[in-house]
Amino acid sequence: MTSSTYNFLSKELEGKIAQPHSNAYEASLKSYFTLQETELRPAFIISPTSADDVSCILKNLAACDAETGSRTKVAVRGGGHSPFAGSANVNDGITIDLRSINTVEVNETRGIASIGGGAIWGHVYEKLDPLGLSVVGGHVYDVGIGGFTLGGGFSSLSPRYGMCCDMVENFEVVLASGEIINANANENPDLWTALKGGSNNFGIVTRFDMRTFQQGKQWAGLVVYPVATLDQHWKAFESMGNDWDPYGSLKLSITFSPQTKFAIAVNFEYTKEDSAPDVFRAFMDITPQYRNTMKITTLSETAKDIQKLQTNGVRQIFATTSFYYSAVHLQNVYSLFNDAVASVENIKGVRWTLTYWRIHSSVTSKSAANGGNSTGLDTSGGSLVLCVLTYSWEDASDDEAMNGAAKLFIEEVDRLSSDAGLFNRYKYVNYSAGYQDPISGYGDEMKAKLQAISKKYDPEGFFQMNVPGGFKIF
Ligand SMILES: Cc1cc2nc3c(=O)[nH]c(=O)nc-3n(C[C@H](O)[C@H](O)[C@H](O)COP(=O)(O)OP(=O)(O)OC[C@H]3O[C@@H](n4cnc5c(N)ncnc54)[C@H](O)[C@@H]3O)c2cc1C
Repeated sequence: MTSSTYNFLSKELEGKIAQPHSNAYEASLKSYFTLQETELRPAFIISPTSADDVSCILKNLAACDAETGSRTKVAVRGGGHSPFAGSANVNDGITIDLRSINTVEVNETRGIASIGGGAIWGHVYEKLDPLGLSVVGGHVYDVGIGGFTLGGGFSSLSPRYGMCCDMVENFEVVLASGEIINANANENPDLWTALKGGSNNFGIVTRFDMRTFQQGKQWAGLVVYPVATLDQHWKAFESMGNDWDPYGSLKLSITFSPQTKFAIAVNFEYTKEDSAPDVFRAFMDITPQYRNTMKITTLSETAKDIQKLQTNGVRQIFATTSFYYSAVHLQNVYSLFNDAVASVENIKGVRWTLTYWRIHSSVTSKSAANGGNSTGLDTSGGSLVLCVLTYSWEDASDDEAMNGAAKLFIEEVDRLSSDAGLFNRYKYVNYSAGYQDPISGYGDEMKAKLQAISKKYDPEGFFQMNVPGGFKIF
């Protein structure tokens, strides 16, 4: 990173470049979800306000690198919620902070919401709720549309509509060359499919045009139970059946912390105004309940409520795998999780959470009906469970111990799933830790396709080599 890069860019983007120690620079760093991302110090942060600005950045960088013979490292930042270091930030390079590209507009027929590449879900729902509309999006207010959608995106609305990326009619994307193009079913359709799961490997998306649908209030909230009720939860999962009412979606988490020991927290969302749906009845009948916040509410209020439960600014990582659903397997994987607590319980500030998110078996047929995506997810063999380990701790000196315990746990889950005939190669890119390889889970054929598409739209490999963050396809 040379000072001439700064001189090159500052001529064109006056007022949009923040230098270290300025208020804008420090505020941008502080707003990442995890401390690991906040700790990285780019040479400067650029905040473009339009696709033209993004194009200008990429063109100038190419010119500058050509002149100086250097290869400037770049990070692309959406909502800043990918936890691991370097995903959307970079030491000594340039971070492009897209958060000022954040408009949400609905077209005349109300069928499409055009959402800026740096917007967050809370703002989307706040715009769409009063119109009685929605899109398939995230549960948490501050999470970005950018990373979420480009990784696939699972939502409480996915049982009804499929993954978030499947609802994108058109991406406005800035290629490494600086060219601004559209990718949809008619224009650049190979890129359209690639971006639906291909993360930051192909370009910088400055606008997502997403299909809307009518949506009113929902019944949603959190119920906290003692761990002694776990057996009843496995039975409640069974009672849902395999082809459950697609208005219902739940995530069950079991958390260990030295202070509270184990507790179960379940996020329920029934995406219709009905406070007694059969699909959740068996869970609602479980007692005692330490806390129950279920209420009829809007999607934006739900996003705010879930936001309040998040802890920002700590050392935190997600690691993930998946397996075919079986209630017995949920129980066996929980036993592994329980055993693994012994290896982390004395680490300062530890929280160790296992989450099960059952994916409706209709999700991939819905993707196919919308033109398909590149995630490699296949639910045709039955309902999958996303198994996510979320762990947080205080000191950097414990990074190795925490990551080591987490890696071992995921390996053991995969071994147990294979032994039980329930293994699935899919590892959701947006819940993967930096040390995992979710792109292999897309399958060899899809990986080869993505590599060919990358060579076509990014022949110099800018998004592979200059943008090291995230998961690369080569
Ligand atoms: C509290 C919390 C709740 C979550 N809930 C869900 C959930 O319900 N469902 C779910 O599926 N996932 C969920 N996730 C995971 C989430 O989808 C990922 O963390 C996602 O990467 C966040 O996107 P972001 O834009 O905020 O992240 P960033 O960290 O800004 O970006 C993530 C990656 O995407 C790239 N990127 C971002 N925007 C663009 C763009 N416009 N163009 C090109 N590349 C871009 C970045 O370079 C980076 O590699 C959650 C995460 C958190 C922390």
